[in-house]
Amino acid sequence: MSSDTGRGAKADRIRHLLETEGPAVEANTLGFNQGRYDSVADLEDYEALKAEARAIKEDAIERLPELLEELRETVEENGGTVYLADDAADANRYIRELASENEAERVVKSKSMTSEELEVNEALEADGVDVVETDLGEWVLQVADEAPSHIVAPAIHKSREEIARLFNAEFDPEEPLETAEELTMFAREQLGELIREADIGMTGANFITADSGTIMLVTSEGNARKSAVVPDTHVAVAGLEKVVPSVEDLAPFIELIGRSGTGQDITSYISLLTPPVDSPVVDFDDPDVAFADREDDRDFHLVLIDNGRLELREDDQLRETLYCIRCSACANTCGNFQSVGGHAFGGETYSGGIATGWEAGVHGYESAAEFNDLCTGCSRCVEACPVEIDIPWINTVVRDRLNRGGEDGQFDFLYDELVPDEESGGPALQKRLFGNYETLAKLGSATAPVSNWMAGLGPVRTLMERTVGVDSRRPLPAFQRETLRNWHEKRGSRVSAADANREVVLYPDVYTNYIDVDRGKAAVRVLEALNVHVRVPDVPGSGRAPLSQGMIATADEKASRVYAALAEHVDAGRDVVVIEPSDLAMFRNEYEKLLPEQSFERLSDVSYEVLEYVYGLLENGADPTALRTDGPELAYHSHCQQRTLGLDAYTRAVFDELEYDVLESEVECCGMAGSFGYKEQYYELSMDVGERLAEQFTTPEASDRLVVASGTSCEDQLDDLLARDAVHPVEVLDPRSRHH
Ligand code: SF4
Repeated sequence: MSSDTGRGAKADRIRHLLETEGPAVEANTLGFNQGRYDSVADLEDYEALKAEARAIKEDAIERLPELLEELRETVEENGGTVYLADDAADANRYIRELASENEAERVVKSKSMTSEELEVNEALEADGVDVVETDLGEWVLQVADEAPSHIVAPAIHKSREEIARLFNAEFDPEEPLETAEELTMFAREQLGELIREADIGMTGANFITADSGTIMLVTSEGNARKSAVVPDTHVAVAGLEKVVPSVEDLAPFIELIGRSGTGQDITSYISLLTPPVDSPVVDFDDPDVAFADREDDRDFHLVLIDNGRLELREDDQLRETLYCIRCSACANTCGNFQSVGGHAFGGETYSGGIATGWEAGVHGYESAAEFNDLCTGCSRCVEACPVEIDIPWINTVVRDRLNRGGEDGQFDFLYDELVPDEESGGPALQKRLFGNYETLAKLGSATAPVSNWMAGLGPVRTLMERTVGVDSRRPLPAFQRETLRNWHEKRGSRVSAADANREVVLYPDVYTNYIDVDRGKAAVRVLEALNVHVRVPDVPGSGRAPLSQGMIATADEKASRVYAALAEHVDAGRDVVVIEPSDLAMFRNEYEKLLPEQSFERLSDVSYEVLEYVYGLLENGADPTALRTDGPELAYHSHCQQRTLGLDAYTRAVFDELEYDVLESEVECCGMAGSFGYKEQYYELSMDVGERLAEQFTTPEASDRLVVASGTSCEDQLDDLLARDAVHPVEVLDPRSRHH
């Protein structure tokens, strides 16, 4: 399949999911995500709780071999058996033999992603065993013969109406089922019968404690404890990363798991079982026997699965994956996931942001390749993750590794000169082009306006779409002949260093320097109005563009060059002011992985987002009336990475101080995400995500306001969605601003 055919097929699949499953997924994930915000707000110290949870997981994975040994001893002392399975086939063989020894005809299961990973249902069914899922969502999918689309709420893509149609067609009840209550009651009765007659109960485990062999199970319906204790044989399957040292370690996870996933302060059922449990086995055919007289001859098997996990543990870049408690917050908070769900944003088993790590670890890179690009690196999931996993970095590392086993593009020869990157493998041409955007921008600016005219020609757009997959429906940004640096060099500084309160370097990011030069000029004027001496030196792109394409070596080289260019200014005590939040996020976050520790700290300590800097100046006595204070009413959208860095509050505070009337978007991500929205295969998804923002800014209250956005991508996306010009906040404050 040629790459343009592949892109077309991907676009078709995404379009189909947007139309069929998108509405239900959106409604549910948005609900979960808002629930998370509301629920964690009640915690006294959410950040401390997350740090505690993180520390427990770090320690447990570090000490895993020792904990596994302790757990084996404990479970055996309790009367159970532990089997450590190398892979899915090994685990399935063990479970099948167990079913055969027990002459089991039926196995009832509670929800377990690990059992999905094993495909244990299929393995048992091949032996003629009836396997019944007892979680409501999983049962719906079993009846519908579909795969889960979410790791916590597997049938999230199905509406109540669809489920009612499914049940009515499949079971032909006396009265057609309609309401949620009717459907639930029906399922409860059916499943109750099936559990009573089961020979083996299978559960997963959210956590297992090495000190006591206690299994913690978190469910919404209480089906796990029924599955575990009604049959006399209990099999628990779990990835070996689920082991934590002690029962005390469960406390922070009990607080966090429900809040993070579904927004519940506490999950409906939290079961702590130490199997084999003491309660007698109930014989439903002989209900008159007193409990005291019943047998309690129970059998328990703990099947711990490696299946690539021990290798993940040795992988410095992907090890964090094993800290994941599968809460689903990273899926619920992700704009792309909210639109398409796990049937697009997922691999063979796992879905959502962290799925790339899981799929690469347990099923291999091919499975991760299917959906890895759907992570745009917006970073909203990072603060949502209760164990503080840097999920975008995991996605970037996997993308980089996929690139290195990458394809040879048939059109590479057209672009080889244009894409002078550091990549030794073969990233797809589309990735190389967007990863080297700085080179294109330099060339486009040097040859403007001819470059803009040419890029706008129909045949050129068609060629671009065909060769590199730049969607022809997306307007291209216009390059400016006069760059910000040229302008500033000609104009000179209006506040001398000797007279200034502060000296700064304004970082000329690629977009500001070559395309949106106006926002750079506005930033210079705003800073000068507050008595700051501004320099605009020659500094390369931050490496954000190549990093977003998984080109880590190229980003690494850029980071070193940026530091080399800025070091003399840092030495001289100048602050570094950054307009583009995604570049500032590089300086403050990703450079920690790309630069020596000391260099990273020196640069990140003196780098500020421009409105953060303005806020600081005003707080320290600068005169606010030097800025434009009579501007129009605003509709403001902050940038995703700006939110993750906690900087959106500064823009709000500055607008408040200057008494602007601001309506702020509640949408976390505009959907554009740098190059993502330009890509042919993702254009419609990008617009669908953006639609949530557009809806808010086209209400009667917002439609006459000046649209303001802090990021390049957000500005472009809002321009396209609203057909209204969006500007950066610093352009509103510019004393020479004419925006109204
Ligand atoms: S990576 Fe974090 S947010 Fe995502 S499922 Fe795992 S624990 Fe939850």
